[in-house]
Amino acid sequence: MSKQVQTTLRGPEAFVLVRRAVDEMERLGVWPTPLNFELWLHWLGDPEGPLGQEMTRLLGDGSPFTEETAEMLAAEYLPRGRLSEEIRDAGAVLNRELSTVSEAIAQAQRSQAAYGETLAGASAHFEQSTEQSAEPKALLGVVTTLSKATTQVRAENATLEKRLATSTKEVARLREHLEQVRRDAMTDALTNLGNRKAFDEELLRACDEAEKKRRPMSLAVLDIDHFKRFNDTWGHQTGDQVLRYVASVIGRVSKAPRVAARYGGEEFAIIFPSESASLVEVALNQIREEIGSRALRRRSTNDELGAVTISAGLAQRRPGESGSSLLDRADEALYASKRTGRNKVTNAERLEIAA
Ligand code: GH3
Ligand code: MG
Ligand code: MG
Repeated sequence: MSKQVQTTLRGPEAFVLVRRAVDEMERLGVWPTPLNFELWLHWLGDPEGPLGQEMTRLLGDGSPFTEETAEMLAAEYLPRGRLSEEIRDAGAVLNRELSTVSEAIAQAQRSQAAYGETLAGASAHFEQSTEQSAEPKALLGVVTTLSKATTQVRAENATLEKRLATSTKEVARLREHLEQVRRDAMTDALTNLGNRKAFDEELLRACDEAEKKRRPMSLAVLDIDHFKRFNDTWGHQTGDQVLRYVASVIGRVSKAPRVAARYGGEEFAIIFPSESASLVEVALNQIREEIGSRALRRRSTNDELGAVTISAGLAQRRPGESGSSLLDRADEALYASKRTGRNKVTNAERLEIAA
């Protein structure tokens, strides 16, 4: 939770804020799930913060507030709390495993030391025995002691090996779990594409690499046309199905090393490492035509929904250009596509020539 909200919740006005959150959710027909409640507290406690502003915008356009919307907002604006819980749990298991292993190793060291002492004792006894001519009874005693000590050390080593094997398995399971948590934090739940966080990281990495290797790279942003109208006509759930469909086409043509992400509500982005704008333009027009030519049907009722179209903008990175400048130019190209009729792909280079 942000500092602002934490402070507000510890003041005398806390109960008023909490009641207001519940009233607001009821008024808007939003279920008071723990996640929604958390989001509403943030919104009311800090309406001018980034989450507050985004919620004002979302609720302002009258779209229903779905679980996906809540999850998206949480992933975008409340990431640390949720992620750190998972990581803290995993860290606790890892600590337990490590202390079990170090305990086992300490025990093994103690018994090895005891074994060493037994051996030293036996060797002293042997020396004495040799000097004073061998006494079979004493020798038998030494051999028995040695054999017992050896058996004990062997048993303890076996226990240690077993514990180590269990811990190794547990640590591997944990590593896999953490990897899953990391993947989830980077994935958009609705479309399974990368989310904005994944995109931002990937864009930085791709720009760095293009600069180092002096290679071209291009960036495209894609946006569904008149999607608000579509949602208003067919409902948010059908809108979500369309988002999944568009994402699946985008995902299919964005095999590695290309990287596709859901950048925002109905906006997508694709990074094209090592590709120049002219080839990317061809790929984008293929995506645009494939999406626009498919007659969509609503799954539940089989109603014909017509086709949806997308507009896109692309820009090829210039030497030394930052990710954010490249993104700005691709965005401008997208808005040129929107301004000039939609269902279009615009290359930023051509805009600049025209300007
Ligand atoms: P334009 O052609 O100019 O892009 O018009 P538009 O209506 O697509 O653009 P606008 O930005 O006005 O509206 C975007 C809409 O996308 C508003 C919102 O209802 C919808 N949207 C955003 N996220 C989601 C989502 O997760 N699910 C659904 N179903 N709709 C969403
Ligand atoms: Mg749109
Ligand atoms: Mg948009």
